[in-house]
Order: sequence, then C-alpha cells, then structure tokens
Amino acid sequence: MHVTFERQPPVGAPGSCSVANPVKVSGDSQAVWNRPGVLSCAMARTVERFEQQVVQPVALRVLGQRVARLVHMGTYACRTRRTDTKVAAAGNGGVAGGRLSEHGKGQAIDLGGFELADGTVVSVKKDWSGAGRKSEFLQELARASCEHFNVVLTPNHNALHADHLHLDIGPHRLCGY
Ligand SMILES: [Zn+2]
Repeated sequence: MHVTFERQPPVGAPGSCSVANPVKVSGDSQAVWNRPGVLSCAMARTVERFEQQVVQPVALRVLGQRVARLVHMGTYACRTRRTDTKVAAAGNGGVAGGRLSEHGKGQAIDLGGFELADGTVVSVKKDWSGAGRKSEFLQELARASCEHFNVVLTPNHNALHADHLHLDIGPHRLCGY
C-alpha cells in the first residue's frame, strides 16, 4: 500500500498494553508524517485507507489542494483512558485503575492537523470552530471518519480533545463528532 514503515518487536504482555504486530509508520502513499508512530498493522492499514479515501479527496474538494503532511500527536502509548477532565491537570497520564486506552494496543491515533501542499497548516485546535473552509474540511473529515474507525472523538466531545481528533478501531462504537 506504499506505506513507509518498519516492523517492530511485539509490545507488552497479555492483559496489559500489547501490540501483537506493531509497525512504526513514518509516512504513507499520500503524506509524510510529522514523526513516526507505532501502530498495529491493522490500524496502519486503516489509517492509510482513510487517507486515500477521505483525507485527500476532501482536501482537494474543500481546500483545492492535497495534504502533504499528517500531523499526529500520538499513536501507541501505554496508558489508561483519559476520560476524566480532572486528569488534564495531572498531565499526560491516564486515570489510575481506568480502562486501558486503545492507544495501549496500537489501535488509536490522535490527529492534530494537516499541512497542505503549499505549506498552509490546518490545525484542529485553531480551525475546528468557525465558518471557514478549514473548519469545513475538519468537520467533514470527522464525519467521514466514522466509516473507517469505530471511535471518533473531536473537540465537540470534551476539553481533552480540544486540539485533536482521536480515531481508533477498538471494540467500542462512538461517533462523537
Ligand atoms: Zn487518542
């Protein structure tokens, strides 16, 4: 699929954070990534399909150009879910005793923004709200994400997602745009 990746050794132990078939992705057929991210092979495939079928077509239609760089804020991370806004003050960690985040299984990615071919940056934090084309692009992207991912969380969900779109292929189903 023209994804640029390196195989990684299996992550973790059963019952805790684990990724059976991890790959470190640094770019795909459509865009380079701002930094490499470790994902399960299945998730890497899903992200690539999402880029081909949603990100690029929507960018071309709404913004008149391609996305050249995908800016993600995290992929694999061994932590519980950040479901409680109180945790925000405590930093990057999850809730003690909370359910394992899909990030802990390599099944999730947080997208912070997109850099277009001409260098224009579309940022979830700055451009999600409003009436401009950047906002239209992000909102349409979020809606269409639900066809590729099981959980889609946006700035509309809560303050913890004010600056990114959380996309995962875990067992739950929540389309929260
Ligand atoms: Zn996330």
